[in-house]
Amino acid sequence: MSEFDDSWGFGTLGIRAFEPARHEGEHSAAIHPTSSFVHSSAAHAAKVFAGEEPGNVYSRFTNPTVQAFEKRLAAMEGAEACVATASGMAAILTLCMSVLKAGDHILVSKSVFGATINLFNNVLTRFGLSVTYVKLGDVAAWKAALTPQTKLLFVETPSNPLAGIADIAALADLAHVHRAWLAVDNCFLTPVLQQPIKLGADFVIHSATKYLDGQGRCVGGAVLGDAQKVGKDVFGFMRSAGPCMSPFNAWVFLKGLETLAVRMRAHNESAQRLAEWLLTQSGVQRVFYAGLPSHPGHALARRQQSGFGGVLGFELAGGREAAWKLIDATRLCSITANLGDTRTTITHPATTTHGRITAEARAAAGITEGLVRVAVGLEDFDDIAADLARGLA
Ligand SMILES: *Cc1c(COP(=O)(O)O)cnc(C)c1O
Repeated sequence: MSEFDDSWGFGTLGIRAFEPARHEGEHSAAIHPTSSFVHSSAAHAAKVFAGEEPGNVYSRFTNPTVQAFEKRLAAMEGAEACVATASGMAAILTLCMSVLKAGDHILVSKSVFGATINLFNNVLTRFGLSVTYVKLGDVAAWKAALTPQTKLLFVETPSNPLAGIADIAALADLAHVHRAWLAVDNCFLTPVLQQPIKLGADFVIHSATKYLDGQGRCVGGAVLGDAQKVGKDVFGFMRSAGPCMSPFNAWVFLKGLETLAVRMRAHNESAQRLAEWLLTQSGVQRVFYAGLPSHPGHALARRQQSGFGGVLGFELAGGREAAWKLIDATRLCSITANLGDTRTTITHPATTTHGRITAEARAAAGITEGLVRVAVGLEDFDDIAADLARGLA
């Protein structure tokens, strides 16, 4: 097994870091779809079970294909350890169950994924954790909301769908002064465009379902961090509680990592062009994309990201009617709330992803009736623009 070289770029890391051993000379990684592993003798079994000798026991604990994905993603994120999970939500649950206890307080940015808010409000609070929501970009508000019980700060940046940017280094400093940890959901940018651990974050969360797969095939996730908290504590929870990733899904994600760098650069380039093109279209009032100099988070995003990602929002003057008309006029774009696929997706946040919150909460979050979100895929740019032009006409 080759490990990796610190000087490698993301393209090389995604393809070559921790290439699995080739038992049959296979060039592409093999899959190990097995629930358990055999031992050469009773004494060997005893040593592996006791952790005195390396080796696999059972795929809820470790599996070679899952480990290949974990090690490669850790190399790309600059993390000491990675634990792969059954989904992105399982990654967030696993992190909280592994490092928090009843009585602890979590500070969360208001604009996180809807299921994350549900998990915090409706599940974790039943186990004695308390949660406060703060404005993503307002470091003073985060500071003011800290309590002696605050153990975890949780943020998603850029936010969905308005591309709000949080200052990762400032939040990490704030967390550490208060003996708390910072977790960053890095789903939208992936390590290719942002490495939160290098900016001071303690944990990175992934929904591998999105860009890591990149073709909309499998559901999975990951928690990344240091050798103690993730390598031991999160892994220990995984071993006992079992929200693990299947070897088959791990293999799909491992193959996804091989093309991640080229795909992210392509998503990025098309989204930037689309944002600039949308600005020139009549009927488009505002475009939310941190790659535009007019975006309030532009300078910060330039500092902490190496690209602005594939997701953008834009607001139509004609409100819901214009937004739905645009969405229904597309022939290429898929009407779905998913993202991180080869296929461009289009969504009306006010009536889908943000449809179940109150009108006041929606207004406070800036989710207007005229807002449309596009997660730019890998089709040719001209075809995506032509598809949207039809509905804007
Ligand atoms: C999709 C998503 C999740 C949840 O991931 P699943 O794999 O669907 O469980 C979490 N965070 C963000 C930002 C997401 O987009």
